[in-house]
Amino acid sequence: MSHYVIDLRSDTVSQPTAEMRQAMFVADVGDDVYGEDPTVNALEQKTAKLFEKEAGLFVPSGTMGNLLACMVHCHQRGSEAIVGDLSHVFLYEQGSAAHIAGIQLATIPNKADGTFCLEAMRRKVRLEDDHEPITSLVVVENTHNICGGKVIPLEWLDKLAALVNGDKQLQPYGKRIALHMDGARVFNAAAALQVPVARIARDFDSVNICLSKGLSAPVGSVLVGSEAFIRQARRLRKALGGGMRQAGILAAAGIVALDTIVPRLQEDHQRTLRIAEAIHKAKSPNVTVDLATVQTNILLIHLPNAKFGATAFAERCSKVTPEELAAGVHAAHKEQGIKLEVSSRDWEFARIVLYHQISDADVDLVIKKFNYIIREVDARLAA
Ligand SMILES: *Cc1c(COP(=O)(O)O)cnc(C)c1O
Repeated sequence: MSHYVIDLRSDTVSQPTAEMRQAMFVADVGDDVYGEDPTVNALEQKTAKLFEKEAGLFVPSGTMGNLLACMVHCHQRGSEAIVGDLSHVFLYEQGSAAHIAGIQLATIPNKADGTFCLEAMRRKVRLEDDHEPITSLVVVENTHNICGGKVIPLEWLDKLAALVNGDKQLQPYGKRIALHMDGARVFNAAAALQVPVARIARDFDSVNICLSKGLSAPVGSVLVGSEAFIRQARRLRKALGGGMRQAGILAAAGIVALDTIVPRLQEDHQRTLRIAEAIHKAKSPNVTVDLATVQTNILLIHLPNAKFGATAFAERCSKVTPEELAAGVHAAHKEQGIKLEVSSRDWEFARIVLYHQISDADVDLVIKKFNYIIREVDARLAA
């Protein structure tokens, strides 16, 4: 019998809900490259309104949304964009800003809370000097994925905006540096802070949001910004091969995601915290979490013992042993056994991510299995 799988590798594995599938089935569509898909237009307008921006653009992926933002804000040749060294744009988009758009990325070390030092950023900005590239953009990721789903504090965002808006020295060639937010999970940030997304996005020239992460839609992102910005991004989307035709089929699910999943994101956060608290309570020296850092739907599990690192932990989670079956860890699934999929990009940290399809009952099972593995490993490593 195949195992009951609880897949916590990423919220990208979330599935469209029944309501989304129904909306997709009945969606009114047209050719979106001609601007004639009513459902795409509705999604773009709805998202722009939520963020209090002038316009929106439906794109196939977050990677394309971020690249388009870089291309529009850094359209002048010889431009440079400042990004965090643990940002998705820098680590996981193939350096597309460089290899497709010819933009140089300058990194600043990300702090544990997902921010970076604003003084270091100020010093990174190039002055008007013919030797140097032109600093044209700063990208902020919110929530910050690699830092563990961290919510960027509003006060920090406000300080960043004050810096680029207020300091004349930071306006090389008389141009204000643009601000883009990689808001793949910005609705999680808004849920955690209990503020509207528009407040978080207030001082940003553009924001890209992912529909296909914790929002559970099958495909797509929406980029928002001014009319002029979106007009340029729309042109360039076509060049990148992102001009989709009857894309309303996909956009329909996105509209349902905004209406039905966004209001429930706190539930994912509560479940994530419940798992974190259970690991904390087990008081293992080998499997730990820092409760103070659990803010949204991402949990970093620390595996400080080199004899049982993140890869070993992930492998163990995905196995079902006869001993654990006998110990009754699997409750109602005792015939088939439960397999947990977790990710381990790093030696010392495993990552789990929660999303709409992970229920309270699943969380109970996850906790049981984690507790069992923790006891097993602690006993083995103590021996
Ligand atoms: C997933 C993700 C993206 C890119 O989205 P895709 O749709 O997978 O291309 C960008 N930024 C962050 C922080 C992400 O987590």
